[in-house]
Amino acid sequence: MLNLLLGKFFDKNKGVLNLRGTWFSELQTPDLAISLKVKETLHYEKTPYQELAVVDTEAYGRTLLLDNIIMTTVKDEFFYHEMISHVPLNTHPNPRNVLVIGGGDGGVIREVVKHPTVEKATLVEIDARVVANAKEYLPEIAVALDDARVEVRYEDGIEHVRLMEDTYDVIIVDSTDPIGPAVGLFSAEFYRNVYKSLKADGLFVAQTESPFFSGKLIRRIQDDLAQIFPINRLYLATIPTYPGGLWSFSLGSKEYDPLRIDWKRAPQVATRYYTPAIHQGAFALPPFVQEILEAPLESEY
Ligand code: SAM
Repeated sequence: MLNLLLGKFFDKNKGVLNLRGTWFSELQTPDLAISLKVKETLHYEKTPYQELAVVDTEAYGRTLLLDNIIMTTVKDEFFYHEMISHVPLNTHPNPRNVLVIGGGDGGVIREVVKHPTVEKATLVEIDARVVANAKEYLPEIAVALDDARVEVRYEDGIEHVRLMEDTYDVIIVDSTDPIGPAVGLFSAEFYRNVYKSLKADGLFVAQTESPFFSGKLIRRIQDDLAQIFPINRLYLATIPTYPGGLWSFSLGSKEYDPLRIDWKRAPQVATRYYTPAIHQGAFALPPFVQEILEAPLESEY
């Protein structure tokens, strides 16, 4: 079994033996890797869309990998799932119909259903095997996928928003990196279809990678959103297991500004990272990120 796994995880192109005896390494850039000491490989399969593994690691516990990239770990998942969910859900004064694209581990859905106004949460995840394995190996993350308000649809999120109109109060795009089936989830056409799928006062958030390694992508996305939404903002959060440890989220809103919230109205939800102060502070961009957004396009950053 281990030999099989070693074979599965030996990437000749990258020369990285991801399970060197008891270690898994993710190449976060061609020149940077994060390595996790592995206690046990709990599952491996090749789905119709990606390689999927669940490994139990000493430092971060059970960890979901897709195509050898760390998606989520039971130890630090709440940083990301709370920040991508409660910022938009507290910005909208009455979020009732919510769409999550990607998010097959269930972490965002778990945070969404904490909001008492939410009547329906639709998860559009392209790969059913991610949901099945999250339920089996990451129950504390996938816990709300069977909530009565949740509908799981195994579809392409790109196609879903192309067909929907004037439907959602909040859309959250919790996708993999811009590779494979997720490439289109970072395009201007997708953002225009998100706009169309939102109600007249709707808003959306997407994870938009590392400001340290993906400045050009973030700038292009922000420029696209500025053409599509009357309000667009970037906010940041610490995500220990993502490349560079600092992550970005891009927000587009038809009416409500995430920096103008009536906190007396916002629901009290149980969180371990997100607070109103963290919410406000997340939009305070350090100069190196401000420069990404403002520098002349041909600049190097
Ligand atoms: N938080 C993680 C991150 O930032 O990389 C993402 C977690 S979640 C596991 C990402 C999910 O997006 C995967 O399960 C993947 O199958 C799904 N996905 C990728 N492209 C998609 C698409 N076009 N439509 C729907 N789901 C998609």
